[in-house]
Amino acid sequence: MAVRNEHISAGPVTEALEAEIARALDVPYAVVTTSGSAALFLALQAVGVRRGDEVIVPDRTWIATAHAVLLAGAKVVLADVRSDIPTLDVERLKEKITPRTKAILPVHLNGRAVEMDKVHALAAEHGLRVVEDACQALFSRDSGCCLGTQSDAGCFSMSVTKLISTGQGGFAVTKDKAVYEQMTALRNHGVADYFADRWNQFGFNLKFTDLLASFGLVQLAKAAERVAVLQAIYEKYRNGLVGLRSVKLLPSRVAAGELPLYAEVLCTERERLVEFLAARDIQTRPVPPNLDISDYIENDGNYPNSRRFAEQGMYLPCGPGQPLENIDRVIEAVAQFAPREV
Ligand SMILES: *Cc1c(COP(=O)(O)O)cnc(C)c1O
Repeated sequence: MAVRNEHISAGPVTEALEAEIARALDVPYAVVTTSGSAALFLALQAVGVRRGDEVIVPDRTWIATAHAVLLAGAKVVLADVRSDIPTLDVERLKEKITPRTKAILPVHLNGRAVEMDKVHALAAEHGLRVVEDACQALFSRDSGCCLGTQSDAGCFSMSVTKLISTGQGGFAVTKDKAVYEQMTALRNHGVADYFADRWNQFGFNLKFTDLLASFGLVQLAKAAERVAVLQAIYEKYRNGLVGLRSVKLLPSRVAAGELPLYAEVLCTERERLVEFLAARDIQTRPVPPNLDISDYIENDGNYPNSRRFAEQGMYLPCGPGQPLENIDRVIEAVAQFAPREV
């Protein structure tokens, strides 16, 4: 489509993708950019995060969340996650608010909803902005609303391990016209269009391309089908792994609309299980490390819940391309490793 139009950089196809995303997520504005990380950076800048500000981030997330804050010049303040699921513990979040706090950056990790009404109440009380990292939560819902759509901005990724992919790519959505206009300007060196007669503000080139947006439109059209496959996979694991002694599937509130993108389990003998499955040609991997182990992000070392998730967490085979028979094989092998509780 982009080639036929003789318009391969950001143009009409990118705009069409933005319109489709906005429609699908029921928001007025979407801004497509080069990655989910870039979307986070645009959103943080657009809500006014600057050098010297503090932004509260959960200790358990993909490192990109923190790097976007650092790129915006602000300080990352790590907060622990809940004990039952690896998303922000709002009680612990409270303790991290200081006079320098500018924003809260909750992460809907693996499609699990953060308690956004509590986050919004805290933000209102302290005059903070809220940017949601919904990079792993496209079309995941809570109380009828799509995750990532209820705050100043919500950010999504279209990289290869996400629900839809353009190779690299991402977008931010918002209901706030001013935030939208800021994000589009920041994506284009701070100006509304190329023929600006003055330089108003800092920005950068984070524009998408119509070549990739053509893929994005096709991917978006396949999303509903993929959602159904992921739901079926999760249901299989939920039934198949129930009652196992040393392997527990992390819970998702699927009845409330949450969409688990990955099959995440906790295993007290994780390294042994990874080997056991590898010997049966089943590839798995441990979850990525917590942010507090990095030596360039300040932290107070007090993250007992996130530590447990990082030490015991692993992904079982999943993803929309995974045939359901494979899941049966994985369940059988895991049950062999970890017999049922009697
Ligand atoms: C993937 C991801 C990102 C970053 O997205 P990219 O498109 O890879 O830049 C940020 N946060 C979380 C939680 C992610 O999973």
